[in-house]
Amino acid sequence: MSNQNPVFIPGPTNIPDRLRLAMQVQTQDHRAPDFVETFAPVLADTKKVFGTTEGQIITFPASGTGGWEAAVTNTLSPGDKILVARYGVFSHRWIDLCERHGLDVQIIDCPWGTGAPADKFEAVLSEDTGHQIKAVLVTHNETATGVRSDIAAVRRAMDAARHPAMMFVDCVSSLASMPFEFDQWGVDIAVSGSQKGFMLTTGMAILCVSPKALEAMETARLSRTFFDFRDMMAANASGGFPYTPPLQLIYGMRESLKMLFEEGLDNVYARHFRLAEGVRRAVDAWGLKLVAQSPDLYSDTVSAISVPDGYDSNALTDHAFNAYGVSFGIGLGELNGKAFRIGHLGSLTDVMVLSGLGTIEMAMADMNYPIRLGNGVAAAQEYFRTGPSGHAKAAA
Ligand SMILES: *Cc1c(COP(=O)(O)O)cnc(C)c1O
Repeated sequence: MSNQNPVFIPGPTNIPDRLRLAMQVQTQDHRAPDFVETFAPVLADTKKVFGTTEGQIITFPASGTGGWEAAVTNTLSPGDKILVARYGVFSHRWIDLCERHGLDVQIIDCPWGTGAPADKFEAVLSEDTGHQIKAVLVTHNETATGVRSDIAAVRRAMDAARHPAMMFVDCVSSLASMPFEFDQWGVDIAVSGSQKGFMLTTGMAILCVSPKALEAMETARLSRTFFDFRDMMAANASGGFPYTPPLQLIYGMRESLKMLFEEGLDNVYARHFRLAEGVRRAVDAWGLKLVAQSPDLYSDTVSAISVPDGYDSNALTDHAFNAYGVSFGIGLGELNGKAFRIGHLGSLTDVMVLSGLGTIEMAMADMNYPIRLGNGVAAAQEYFRTGPSGHAKAAA
């Protein structure tokens, strides 16, 4: 029966029945004339989630990592200099990918639990008067630490330095769950995937690309074949695909967008904030600390929670899985053994979150954590009941 339990990992996320059913379609000929009727509206509607009218949506059959590779190889040349801050496992992995492609990566190491350092970016970019730096890479939501960075602040820093570098943003674990403003923030490429905020199976990398990045593509010399934007855009222009498209995911995406728009993007973001805040109230009631160092950095899609000294977070997540059949995120990288993560994004309600909090609370009590059973759940219940969108007043 434990397959009835939701997962509390920050992706892949729980797939609502409505989306599982939407992906349950028989093979169709992607070269048939009606494929365009299915695919073209999906590309158009995805723009709304990125907050763009200018950007071009480009998808590939890949996970988010493929999206990173597509972004880099389509716009840069071997030896190009790029600027990146590292503050968790995902920003680190993007750096690794760039280094393996022979880029000259200037890394700003930041303490884990902090986010993109706009002031440091500004200082480095101001000194780069010859404009050697071609791109600044930012992880919007560092899934390893539960930190959301301020992309608008990075844009302001780049503008203050009067630097023409492109800005690439990883929004894999934030898009469709937290506000994203591609045009307003001056993003050049945003990279996401199907298996987090879109609540689908893994397998579609979803990118949004600015006119400036498309211009850089014309002279970029890193090699790409499968991930070539030009082939994809040329085929997409007539509603086609340069190779076999992930048809079931395209149907899933169509329904996912419908769900997001029915709820309303602002309501989707408000729900994620509410769920996250409920979790944060619970963490506080347990007397534990988030890895994210200050409230302005708190992610609404994932919370990384430090365990007390002398406790092993892997033993806790293993126990929660073995005893109660519920998955929580393990601590990644330098947080392994020291923190666990509660993913609270995608298809999730107050009620589901309470079940997760109740479960991890039991697991902690089993392992003699210094917490009182029920404290965290009660704090979240109180917030869900009486918080800004709670039902307490209306019922009274
Ligand atoms: C999940 C995730 C990715 C992509 O991982 P894939 O497993 O390749 O889909 C990239 N960046 C962040 C921040 C993520 O959370």
